[in-house]
Amino acid sequence: MQKNDVVKVTIEDIGVNGEGIGKIDGYTLFIKDAVIGDVVEAKIMKAKKNYGYARMIQIIEPSKDRVEPKCKFARQCGGCQIQQISYEKQLEFKNRKVLGNLERIGGFSPKLLEKIADPIVGMEIPFHYRNKAQFPFGKDKNGVTVTGFYAGRTHDIIANTDCALGVEQNQEILETILSFMEQYQMEPYDEKTGKGLLRHVLIRYGFTTKEIMVCLVINAKKIPHCERLVELLQKIEGMTSITISVNQKNTNVIMGDSYEVLWGQAFITDYIGEIKYQISPLSFFQVNPVQTEKLYGLALEYVDLKGDETVWDLYCGIGTISLFLAQKAKQVYGVEIIPQAIEDARKNAQINGIENAKFYVGKAEEVLPGYYADYAKAHPGEQAHADVIVVDPPRKGCEESLLETMVQMQPERIVYVSCDSATLARDLKYLCGNGYELVKVRAVDQFSQTVHVETVVLLSRK
Ligand code: SAH
Repeated sequence: MQKNDVVKVTIEDIGVNGEGIGKIDGYTLFIKDAVIGDVVEAKIMKAKKNYGYARMIQIIEPSKDRVEPKCKFARQCGGCQIQQISYEKQLEFKNRKVLGNLERIGGFSPKLLEKIADPIVGMEIPFHYRNKAQFPFGKDKNGVTVTGFYAGRTHDIIANTDCALGVEQNQEILETILSFMEQYQMEPYDEKTGKGLLRHVLIRYGFTTKEIMVCLVINAKKIPHCERLVELLQKIEGMTSITISVNQKNTNVIMGDSYEVLWGQAFITDYIGEIKYQISPLSFFQVNPVQTEKLYGLALEYVDLKGDETVWDLYCGIGTISLFLAQKAKQVYGVEIIPQAIEDARKNAQINGIENAKFYVGKAEEVLPGYYADYAKAHPGEQAHADVIVVDPPRKGCEESLLETMVQMQPERIVYVSCDSATLARDLKYLCGNGYELVKVRAVDQFSQTVHVETVVLLSRK
């Protein structure tokens, strides 16, 4: 097989990034945008000894699981990877990915997994679920100012104000900004020269409150004629907060370090379940509030609190899970590395009248072992105990030193929420080798049309 060869191939499998996988005489081809069951014509772009990457040229016979993508830019855009696969099959793929990792990396038997895994939790409407989007501004080939999304792997902007994952309100906001820019001949930022004004716009929408936030990220201290822009934006129904964030650095980081209010409030409010959150331009907040409520509801169900427990919520972010748990526990301790997130967590506890949640800033793998050691010093002959520990780490999972302390604290239950089932599987292997047993597993789809999947797991002390 050589570069530029054109081949006909049947797609038999799906790769971790959603790409189709086919074989020709034992030679494996990875083909983006192809679906299991498709017969496609593809051109080889890169050929290694036993495998290669090919570009789909045409679909000869479409798979029965292939659907027409809702967005006409789905193939070029870097945001979605699997819009061409029916939602039912997307869920099947994600569930298999999670269980496959638990089996391969975690060493759990298929029989056990079959017994304890509950069916994946899907979305009722697998589009328009994101409450947050950051749109870059730039110029197209003809020098026209555009906004949209980056194409996969490049910073070329695909002009599109109507992303199928975002809220429909985005479109009016983006069109308003584009026409303002045209009227006042305002230049978008150019990454190559470092010139131009508008870099990105961050839009947030409160699903429950219907409040809208717009934050303009600019490469200067202010926006000329900004009163006019504010006047236009503030007419949009639900507009609650208009801010600017100055970012004059040549970097891929989108937001500046701070922000300034142009109009309205510095934050919008939204809810997950009964808990109310104030969200400012720089706060972290779950992007799919509907599925987050299901995911954390499930975590709460697994935790099964009676009311007298001490609970640790490690990697707590703005305290979403902590505050959920605090409603039912005696005492919750949250740990998170980002100081601003902890400030938000404390403020969110306060606005909800929650007094039994205490938050620590720091690395979970330092704070928890530190607490454990200090406790032993202060109470000779005793050791710190937790009734329940919840963890929700980033993709890289937990450090072994943290898992070790968790085991020493002998919680009855551990609930692990994970956005990467490979590191989840690795960490479960450790915990199950050190006195815990896997009781429940359930995948939750928070990001339809993409290959990402969340998992929540319950472990119990043997
Ligand atoms: N449950 C949280 C989100 C968890 S995302 C919520 O709903 O808000 C993972 C979090 O872990 C992020 O907030 C990230 O800042 C934090 N984090 C990353 N590494 C960490 C570490 N070593 N110790 C503690 N927190 C960490």
